[in-house]
Amino acid sequence: MRLVELHGSRFAGDPAGDFSADLGVDSGGDADEVEESLASHPRRESLLVRERLVEGVHSGITSQHGLIAHGRGEALDYLIGERTRDFSEVAIRAAVGAMLLAERPVISVNGNAAALVPGEMVRLSEVTGAPLEVNIFHHSEARVDAIASHLGRFGGEGILRPSEEAVIETLSSGRRFVSPDGIAKADVVFVPLEDGDRCGALRAIGKTVIAVDLNPMSRTSRDASITIVDNVVRAVPRMVEEAMAIGDQVDEGALRRAVDEYDHASVLADAENALRSGL
Ligand code: ATP
Ligand code: MG
Repeated sequence: MRLVELHGSRFAGDPAGDFSADLGVDSGGDADEVEESLASHPRRESLLVRERLVEGVHSGITSQHGLIAHGRGEALDYLIGERTRDFSEVAIRAAVGAMLLAERPVISVNGNAAALVPGEMVRLSEVTGAPLEVNIFHHSEARVDAIASHLGRFGGEGILRPSEEAVIETLSSGRRFVSPDGIAKADVVFVPLEDGDRCGALRAIGKTVIAVDLNPMSRTSRDASITIVDNVVRAVPRMVEEAMAIGDQVDEGALRRAVDEYDHASVLADAENALRSGL
């Protein structure tokens, strides 16, 4: 087992972060205004999350396509009750177990994840020892720079970048370019908000893939090794909490049990049932 240096104590008192209190973007004051104007809105949290993505587009982090993808996710989130359900908790435990047991785990960050949970991604990287790697569908050097420096503002260090030196040949999108020191060599890849094509391609070259996807019927959800059917704004902070709870007392047997007990088909079936039967 890879020895992980856990840094839980650095985050004592603020394990998960408070996404409503921190829009996580350089908004020049606009974000504060939006937050004030939504003070009494019944769908405040959801709208604040939306606002972060819009800011992400303005600051060159998120693609316009990312807004549409998020809208599809919002509809599904509404149906699962906008909370972390039991089928997600099981997957979160397995996901954290797989990351801590991995020899070379990597966290892949796209424009939506960077806009929505930048600080939490950095924390997850610190508590699991998995480096962050920028990987985007619509490739541009400017957007890679914007995402990497955004993560840097949240304390991210040694951010890996896509490169032409390492290419996943079976993919046609910008997601084919990976870091030779990151995804190329990784055994476990955490890919919140994955695209179905790449999820399948990563599995085909032998990687364990952990995804967060509100749609249990998507190719991503089906093809991933472990799928957390939850909103990334709840799932990633929960993963940080879970990793921090393990702290320095890493019990390899308990981590393996969490991974072994994870039943992919039954997690996806439970999530689909929850969606179909309503709240
Ligand atoms: P796939 O590529 O896996 O077959 P797809 O093409 O239907 O699926 P995409 O357009 O690639 O889906 O991505 C949009 C999906 O991403 C949404 O349907 C939703 O499930 C997921 N998604 C979007 N935003 C979030 C979010 N904040 N948290 C979790 N999942 C999200
Ligand atoms: Mg897709």
